[in-house]
Amino acid sequence: MGSESVKVVVRCRPLNDRETALGSKMVLTMDLQRCQCFIKKPMSADEPPKQFTFDGTYFTDQTTEQMYNESAYPLVEGVTEGYNGTIFAYGQTGSGKSFTMQGVTEPPAQRGVIPRAFEHIFESIQCSENTKFLVRASYLEIYNEEIRDLLGSDTKQRLELKEHPERGVYARDLSMHTVHNVAECESMMERGWRNRAVAYTFMNKDSSRSHSIFSIHLEMCRTDAAGQDHLRVGKLNLVDLAGSERQSKTGATGERLREATKINLSLSALGNVISALVDGRSKYVPYRDSKLTRLLQDSLGGKTRTLMVACLSPADSNYEESLCTLRYANRAKSIQNRPCINEDPKDALLREYQEEIKKLRALISGQLGSVAPVPSVMPKHQAEVCPNSTDREKDKIKKDYEERLAKLQADFSAERESKAKLQQDITTLRASYDSKLSGLEKIKTSRERSTPKNASSSSVTTEETFPSNANELSQSIVPHAADRIPKSPDGVPEESPGVGTAGDVEQKEALERLQRLEQEVVGGEQARNKEFQQRQRQRRKVADQRKAQLVQALSDNSEESDNVLFSVYDSIQEEVHAKGQMLSKVQGKLKAAKLEIRDLQAEFEEERNDYLVTIRRLEREGQLLHGLLERMAPLVRRDCNYSSLERLKREAAWDEESTAWRIPDVTIQRTTLPSGGTFHLSPPRGLAADAKDIVQVEEDRYKELLDRSDSENIANAYFRCKRANQLRGGETAMGHGEVFFFFLGHCRTFDRTR
Ligand code: ADP
Ligand code: MG
Repeated sequence: MGSESVKVVVRCRPLNDRETALGSKMVLTMDLQRCQCFIKKPMSADEPPKQFTFDGTYFTDQTTEQMYNESAYPLVEGVTEGYNGTIFAYGQTGSGKSFTMQGVTEPPAQRGVIPRAFEHIFESIQCSENTKFLVRASYLEIYNEEIRDLLGSDTKQRLELKEHPERGVYARDLSMHTVHNVAECESMMERGWRNRAVAYTFMNKDSSRSHSIFSIHLEMCRTDAAGQDHLRVGKLNLVDLAGSERQSKTGATGERLREATKINLSLSALGNVISALVDGRSKYVPYRDSKLTRLLQDSLGGKTRTLMVACLSPADSNYEESLCTLRYANRAKSIQNRPCINEDPKDALLREYQEEIKKLRALISGQLGSVAPVPSVMPKHQAEVCPNSTDREKDKIKKDYEERLAKLQADFSAERESKAKLQQDITTLRASYDSKLSGLEKIKTSRERSTPKNASSSSVTTEETFPSNANELSQSIVPHAADRIPKSPDGVPEESPGVGTAGDVEQKEALERLQRLEQEVVGGEQARNKEFQQRQRQRRKVADQRKAQLVQALSDNSEESDNVLFSVYDSIQEEVHAKGQMLSKVQGKLKAAKLEIRDLQAEFEEERNDYLVTIRRLEREGQLLHGLLERMAPLVRRDCNYSSLERLKREAAWDEESTAWRIPDVTIQRTTLPSGGTFHLSPPRGLAADAKDIVQVEEDRYKELLDRSDSENIANAYFRCKRANQLRGGETAMGHGEVFFFFLGHCRTFDRTR
C-alpha cells in the first residue's frame, strides 16, 4: 500500500467591496506555473515576501471549474473506483470557503466543488459498463462541538460519535438518503444548507459558524466476464470548515465568544493533529481532542485521499490571517496518507440488493437455480431423470442445505453483532434451496405429464414431508416469513392451475419488489453515449497534463541550485557571476528564514496570549461556578449524596467516548431504624446508653415531617409550640423542638463524660 501526501492548493479571492472602499492593498501574489504563493508584509518594504509552494495555486481570476478539473477531479474519480476521498476548505471567515465548496450558479464556471462532484460522480456512473451503483448522501454539522444531522427529521438532535473496526469513526443515527441523480443531490445540499447555523460577525454577516460535512457514499458492484460480482465502496467527504480567525478580530462577545472558542478548539485540534502527523517523532496523534478531528481521522494520516483548499483574502488588513492559513496549509502538505481501495465490504447494502435482484429476476423469468430449466425448453437428459434419482437429488440438496444451515447457525451465535448479515445469508441459502427444489419439482411434473403411470407414491410422500421440514428448519432462523422470496415459482401458470392464483400474486409482488430495487441502483445508462465519454476523456487529460506540469515545476525548483554548482563555465568571470547570483539568492533565503523565525516567535507569543485569555476566562467561570456550588451544598439535605462536593468529585468520571462527565445520580441514604416505640423522658442523670438512638429517632421523625410538609409550616409549628409553652410557663410539657435540643444537650454531655 503506497503512501501519498495530502494535496494542498491555495485560492485567493478578489478584494471585496468593503476592502476596496477602505483602500486596502493586495499583499498576495502567485506564480501559477510554479504553484508558488508570495505574501508581502504591509509597511515593511525592506523585507522580502514570504514564499510557499503548493500543489496548486489559484489567484483572483481563476475559476472553481479550473480548480476542480486540475486538482479535485482525480480525487473524485478515485472515489468512483472505490477509494475514500476528502476535500476540505480551510481559511478565515469571508475568504471564500463556501464560495469554493457550494459556489454560485452564475457564472457557471464558479459553481462549487460540491455540485461539480455530484455531476462528476453521476457522469462516471452513467458511463460505466457492467457496474451498478448505490449512491447515498448524508450531511452533518458540527456546531459548538455538537453534531447535528442536517438532513434528519430532527435537526436539533445531537448525534454521538461511534467507532467501528471497518467503518472507522461515524456519527450514530446519521440519516442516509439514496440519490439517483444530480438534481436529487442538489436538493439534499440545499435542504441541509438551509439548516446550517449562521450567525453574524463583523467579518462576514452570512458566515457559517459551524463545520459541515456533506458525504456521498458509493457502493459499486462490477460483474466481470465470468459473471462474478466484485463489490467496492467509496466515500467522498466534502467539508466546509468554520472560519479560522482569532476571536479578538471578530468582535465576538458573550455567547458568540464562547462559540468562537469552541470553533477554534476544533480548529486548533485540527492544527495539533496536523503538527503531530508531520512531526515524525510524535507517536500520539490527538484525534480525540475534538469532534472534527475524530470525523476527519481517516482523512488525515489514514486511508483516505485528501485535498485541502486553503482560501485566502488578499487584503493587507488580513495579512496575519492569510499568513497563518498559508503556514497551516504548508504543514498539511507533509501529511502522509495510505489510500487503498475498499474491496468486498461486509456490510454493503448493495450486495443484499444485487442478490435479491438476481433472485427476483430468476424467479420472474422462471429460470431459478442451477438445475432449474425453463419447462417449455426442457433439456433431454433432465427429462429422462427417473423418480428415484429425483429423490436422491432431493436428499442430497436437503443434506447440503442442512449442513450449511447448521454452519450458519453456529456462525450466527458466534457473531451476534453481524446478525442482520447472517440472516441475509440464511435467506439466500433458503432461496437457493427453494429454487433447486422447485427446479426438481418441475422436472418431475413434466416427467409425470409425459409418463403419468410412473408417478410413484414415494415421491408424493417426499414432497409432502420434505418442504415442511425445511420450513421448520428455516423458520427458527428467518424471522419474517413475509421477507422470504416466494417459493415454487411458476414460469407457465396456465400449466399448473392449482397454484395459478397464488403464483400470480407472488409473481406480481416479486415484480414490484424487483422494480423498486432496480430503481434504487443506477449505472451504465449512458455507457454508449460518445459525447459523455469524450468529455470524461478530456477531463482526465487535463488532470494528467496538470500533474505532469506540476512535477516539472517542482523538479525545476530543486534542480536550479544543482545546475549552478555542476555546470561547466567558459571563463572564470562567468562562473563568478553565476555563483555570485546563486550566493545572493541563498543570502535572500537566509534572510527570509531569519525573518520567518522572528515572525513565528511573535505569532507564537500572540497565540499563547490568546490561549491565556481563554484560560483566564474559563478559570473565572470555573471559580464562579465553584463558589456558587460551595454556597449551595450546605443547603442540600445531609442524607443526599449531593451535600458533599468532595465525594461527588471523587465519584464523577470523565468519559472519553462521549467526551462528557459521568456525574453520579442523586441518591438519598435512608437510615433503617430499629422499631421505634414511645419513650419517656427521664432525668438527665438517668440517661440510658442508647440516648444516641433516641436522638436519631427524633431526628428521623423531623426529617419525615420535613418531607411531608413544606419548611415554612415546620418552622411555624415549631415556634408556635415553643411560644405556647413559654406562655404556659409549663416545665413539664415540652414541645418537640425542646425535646430535641434537650436530648442533643444530653447527648453531648454523654459523649464528653464517656
Ligand atoms: P467563507 O465561507 O470563507 O466565510 P464565503 O465563501 O462566504 O466565505 O465568501 C465571502 C464572499 O466573498 C462572498 O460574497 C463570495 O461571493 C466572495 N468570494 C469568495 N471567493 C470568491 C472568488 N474566488 N471570486 C469571487 N468572489 C468570491
Ligand atoms: Mg462559509
